[in-house]
Amino acid sequence: MIPFLDLKAQYGEIRDDVNAAVLKVIESTQFVLGPEVKGFEGDFATYCQAEHCVALNSGTSALHMALLALDVGAGDEVITVASTFIATTAAIRYSGATPVFVDVDTATWTMDAAAIEAAITTKTKAIMPVHLHGRVADMDAINAIAGKHGLHVIEDAAQAHGAESKGRRAGSLGVIGCFSFYPGKNLGAYGEGGAAVTNDAGLAHKMRVLRDWGQEEKHHHVVQGYNTRMDGIQGAVLRLKLKYLDKWTEARRAHAALYDRLLADVACGRPLIADNDRHVFHVYSVLVENRDRIQKVLGDAEIGTNIHYPIPVHLQQAHADLGYARGDFPVTEKLAEQFLSLPMYAELTDEQVSAVANKLKEALNG
Ligand SMILES: *Cc1c(COP(=O)(O)O)cnc(C)c1O
Repeated sequence: MIPFLDLKAQYGEIRDDVNAAVLKVIESTQFVLGPEVKGFEGDFATYCQAEHCVALNSGTSALHMALLALDVGAGDEVITVASTFIATTAAIRYSGATPVFVDVDTATWTMDAAAIEAAITTKTKAIMPVHLHGRVADMDAINAIAGKHGLHVIEDAAQAHGAESKGRRAGSLGVIGCFSFYPGKNLGAYGEGGAAVTNDAGLAHKMRVLRDWGQEEKHHHVVQGYNTRMDGIQGAVLRLKLKYLDKWTEARRAHAALYDRLLADVACGRPLIADNDRHVFHVYSVLVENRDRIQKVLGDAEIGTNIHYPIPVHLQQAHADLGYARGDFPVTEKLAEQFLSLPMYAELTDEQVSAVANKLKEALNG
């Protein structure tokens, strides 16, 4: 049996250290923020090639606090993609702004920069590209358009810890970069977690105030704040796990390269692997027709698969009021119909990757 994701295998590798780190936090009773979170913030900022990191309680909160820090709110529009997890648009709506979608590119599966300008109105305040599956969006083009129109760029890097474009890391390519540490993400907490990174000291300060009830100092609430602080235990776990992240990411990349090689002559779409980019393969997804049948063949062979994501965000019932309809974003909609995510985590063996690729090949020929 090959599960889609195996968090226990990773825990086995770090069990003694992680147990000790968690116990240390409990004994210190620094349950919220505290020295471990502060230490993690420093380490993660460096990891992302950014000056500042603000640790939060989820990736969704990171996107939300980023928008608020940039004064995005009611009456504003934020351009994003519909080929993403619903958290991207949820955060935009929490801020009071309206998400405006553009299609994605057929090759990269990320925001189609050529579609952005047609979506800009006098209300547009920001662009929020998503580094889907761990591949950095076309940030040069997106930043150029944002610069020309005076818009903020907030990266949804929830799936892209350590991803790079031309040697520059995800999170440091826009004004603020937002990460999730949901357990299944490439860097996963032992609970919920998130962070926003930035090179702007003023924005970092604003996000620190926002996450802590709007307090500049104790009992002085200067703005409408939130409770979106990171737990001490999560800070300790993440700080420890960050030391392994590059090793784990290289293992993911090796599995992706092997999938790619084994599936080279198979009739399915595969992720684009470009020389200038470090794709971190949060997800390795292929494109298949007759997905239900293929998924069943793999499932019957005890191979776990998943779909990221079967219903694009613009077609979700929760967004019916935005007035989008099927046919609005043909590339996004085709990807949603055909995406099939294969098992992907550092601890997979070459034999398991080969077994998955062979079964997929068999299913596609069957
Ligand atoms: C996971 C994820 C989020 C939200 O992160 P949480 O920590 O679950 O709140 C946002 N955007 C994308 C693209 C994600 O994959």
